[in-house]
Amino acid sequence: MIQEWLKKIELANSLGSLEDVRVEILGKKGVLTAQFTKMKDIPNTQKKAFAQNFNEQKAKVSEAIENKKTVLMALALEEHLKLEKIDVTKFNMQPQNGAFHPVIDTLDKITTYFQNLNFSVEEGPLVEDDFHNFEALNLPKYHPARDMQDTFYCKDGAVLRTHTSPVQIRTMMKTKPPIRMIAPGNVFRKDFDITHTPMFNQIEGLVVDKHNKISFANLKHVMVEFLHHMFGDVEVRFRPSFFPFTEPSAEVDISCIFCNGKGCRVCSHTGWLEVLGCGIVDENVFKAVNYENVSGYAFGLGIERFAMLIHKIGDLRSLFESDIRLLGQFR
Ligand SMILES: [Zn+2]
Repeated sequence: MIQEWLKKIELANSLGSLEDVRVEILGKKGVLTAQFTKMKDIPNTQKKAFAQNFNEQKAKVSEAIENKKTVLMALALEEHLKLEKIDVTKFNMQPQNGAFHPVIDTLDKITTYFQNLNFSVEEGPLVEDDFHNFEALNLPKYHPARDMQDTFYCKDGAVLRTHTSPVQIRTMMKTKPPIRMIAPGNVFRKDFDITHTPMFNQIEGLVVDKHNKISFANLKHVMVEFLHHMFGDVEVRFRPSFFPFTEPSAEVDISCIFCNGKGCRVCSHTGWLEVLGCGIVDENVFKAVNYENVSGYAFGLGIERFAMLIHKIGDLRSLFESDIRLLGQFR
């Protein structure tokens, strides 16, 4: 019996067929597993010998499977490498066109849209101090809302900026209102899974003008027009939410572009996709930068989220793997 099994293992020529053999012998309904159920019918005096024999056979078979698996995996890897081999000495008279990375492409599209609306493009440092990243944004020390952002702290108390909002603060501190600005750039948070990476891109917008000149209606109009520009004819809805630096705050959803609002896996069967956060700038933020008698609105969104939705990309991490096969699809 055992010789027959070992031979089957030896003859397996792929990882798939090896797995079939493994299930046939060691699986829940496998032939070896079936022997074990006979144990109860065996006289007590022979039980020990039977068990010993059973365990030995099982160990032999398991070992043979593991060994064969190592060999087959090495073969599979070799096949794979052969398939992806690139001859760097090969001369090609026809150069291939390059393409923008989907994140850069999306960032450009958003930036251009707001530049056309007369928004300036502002920048700020990636390593921030506590004041600009938190305190001035109505996030005093020990405020529970700080936990909303998994921050990378540096030794001297500096942080890797967790959002592009500190650029708002820096711009307000060096200029006088009116302000119409956007701030695109990298931000950092301690997170890594299918929808999170430790570094990602945000774009933030801020509009400030004399008191009573800016209202939620202005914000709503600009957001709806912007989302139509990005996603076409979608429905847009505003949901009340909380952000420390705006009051009132809203999260903005669009009707699901995958199922047209009927409900699917991507929208968790709600028919809606959350795309950005916004609100009326909190008075405390203006206080921190010594602005008086002004009003304003702010909004922020994740560039990768937009790129994934526009290009229907399932795993956020694939945007950072620099795999030329992915990039080639955006030519
Ligand atoms: Zn859907």
